[in-house]
Amino acid sequence: MLKLFNTLSGKIESFRSLEKGQVKLYTCGPTVYDYAHIGNYRAYMFEDLLKRLLLFLGFEVTHVMNITDVDDKTIIGAQAEGVPIQEYTKKYIDAFFSDLETLNILKADYYPRATDHIPEMIKLIQRLLDKGIAYRKNGSIYFSIEKYPDYGRLSKIELSELRPGERVDSDEYKKENVHDFALWKEKKTGEPFWETEIGDGRPGWHIECSAMSSKYLGETFDIHCGGVDNIFPHHENEIAQSEAASGHSFVNFWIHCHHLIVDGEKMAKSKRNQYTLKDLKNKGIDPMALRLLLLSTHYRKMLNFTFDACGQAQSSVQRIKDFLYELKNRPFKEGENVEVNKHIDTMMKRFTSGLCDDLNISVALTAFFEMIKRFNVMISRDEICSRDSAKIISAVNNINTILGVLKEDNEDNLPPEILDKIKARQKARTEKNFKLSDQIRDELYALGIILEDTKDGTVRWKKK
Ligand SMILES: [Zn+2]
Repeated sequence: MLKLFNTLSGKIESFRSLEKGQVKLYTCGPTVYDYAHIGNYRAYMFEDLLKRLLLFLGFEVTHVMNITDVDDKTIIGAQAEGVPIQEYTKKYIDAFFSDLETLNILKADYYPRATDHIPEMIKLIQRLLDKGIAYRKNGSIYFSIEKYPDYGRLSKIELSELRPGERVDSDEYKKENVHDFALWKEKKTGEPFWETEIGDGRPGWHIECSAMSSKYLGETFDIHCGGVDNIFPHHENEIAQSEAASGHSFVNFWIHCHHLIVDGEKMAKSKRNQYTLKDLKNKGIDPMALRLLLLSTHYRKMLNFTFDACGQAQSSVQRIKDFLYELKNRPFKEGENVEVNKHIDTMMKRFTSGLCDDLNISVALTAFFEMIKRFNVMISRDEICSRDSAKIISAVNNINTILGVLKEDNEDNLPPEILDKIKARQKARTEKNFKLSDQIRDELYALGIILEDTKDGTVRWKKK
């Protein structure tokens, strides 16, 4: 049974989906005013781990991640560059999708953009106006938190100091500024706006997630994720808008991951420690090592990113690859060792029960790497047979459906022209045509593939 920490109840709860075998998942996506940094990817990676676990457990998952392409920050950015907002956000949206692919993060089923869902937001705001929960002031429309008595339930905010009728216009604000928040902001010179039946203007940030989640997942759904900084005000406001409009519960499980810090310090542009994926690739870090590193700290703990830890993650990924290489390329004796099945079963049980215990990744990874260590010893003692190696390979692949760290060097992911060259070079070598063999090796090197000839005559390869 899967157990998860629900921010709403403040407790670890047994997870049950609303519909048997189906999970409806919403995760807050990027605000595309800049390139995403590793702190952002920590949240997306934790969500990917959760989603992969749900799939592994047999659930069908419908996943929605929004793209915030209009808000205070994107408007300021576009104004500073003097370009239309769509032009400004496009490069960041493209980079975001490319990063997701590089990090092997599973694609969501929908990536709705705020600017494509203005009518849905208008409809929701209209419902709140009709119910007397939202009100107009100076051309903008605000949510009256006084009219929603459950306000503060998620962030456990103290409302006693609240002065009714005070308003906050910015999309992001601190708990000290808990006020009526903007659902719709009046048209301003130089800002993008929409001509609508509720007036000319643009949406506040929070309303988009309420409108888009209910469009794709229904008014009540299973899981909503984000980083802890989303709890207030963003998610608190989402709950208020959605529940006040629909009259019923919005989300069953709210799951949030903690911050990432770098070398023990908070990330900041001024400290030059706010790395993008591109920055890290330029420093020679394999995205799969970064993936493992981001996964390997429990999601509710602060993750301290260091280059040392990156190096360790790189070695761990290499250990898995080397292990698989041995299993695939060693000539094993015929037969089967009954011990192997037992070890695989024990590891799989520990791995999944760790993850089902509120995503306890440490328990899961320990079980996996202990199995590798044990089998490496057995390989060196010639205790593994041909039928065992196939079973172990399949167990590793099974684990990788959750970890997702074996991607780049998997032969299935190599372009066919590279695979052909590797084969041609092997052939040239067996035929002792060393000139051709060296020439192909150099060509492959130029394409980013390094070949290593081993003592037993086989060839292994890796990416540069
Ligand atoms: Zn959101």
